[in-house]
Amino acid sequence: MVEEFVFDNTEERRKHRKNGAGWVEVIVGSMFSGKSEELIRRLKRAQIARQKVQVFKPKLDDRYSVEEIASHSGMTHVSNPVMTAQELLDRIKDDTEVVGIDEGQFFDIGIVNAVNQLANDGKRVIIAGLDQDYTGKPFEPMPQLLSIAEFITKTHAICVRCGETANYSQRTFESEALVEVGASGKYEARCRRCFVPHSDAPTVL
Ligand code: ADP
Ligand code: ZN
Repeated sequence: MVEEFVFDNTEERRKHRKNGAGWVEVIVGSMFSGKSEELIRRLKRAQIARQKVQVFKPKLDDRYSVEEIASHSGMTHVSNPVMTAQELLDRIKDDTEVVGIDEGQFFDIGIVNAVNQLANDGKRVIIAGLDQDYTGKPFEPMPQLLSIAEFITKTHAICVRCGETANYSQRTFESEALVEVGASGKYEARCRRCFVPHSDAPTVL
């Protein structure tokens, strides 16, 4: 069994920005691995420290407009839905100190420059997202975000088949679409041995 993610106190040590620069933290893992929980935990702590926080989530189409980010365990945080990385940048306020972004995998590639710009401007940017799609391929732009991040956290779920550490999001229904909005209940966390990396994967092995 791979060891579970253990939180250290790096977050506390990072509070002092001696040269005024910000930084980028990326949280990646499969579905149900606790990415949103970890993002929300960090954002709530920043607010307790009275820092100015803004949170964003991609708006995938005109109908899909959620005003909060939510974890599978019920934790929530208010957020602004945005269509593009440029819209996110346009909405940033000068005095914002911490920028949280959930579902980073659904942003356009412009998010990489946007995140760099925010960090260069002195902001702490925390971005969570799926690092692999349902076929097990790297889910862009997360690989690019991992490359530019100062800090990376990999979260793991529990395989629903065998209880091992899960690193994959298994789609349990047939669809060729890369993104299935509102498909909760149609994915499950699986380990390397139990994951079937095909779009037409059977639900029973
Ligand atoms: P993510 O953002 O990575 O999809 P969330 O933060 O939304 O993850 O949800 C994590 C929570 O999901 C866990 O704390 C747990 O309560 C719940 N959960 C449901 N299924 C699983 C699973 N197979 N493995 C781990 N956690 C699970
Ligand atoms: Zn398994």
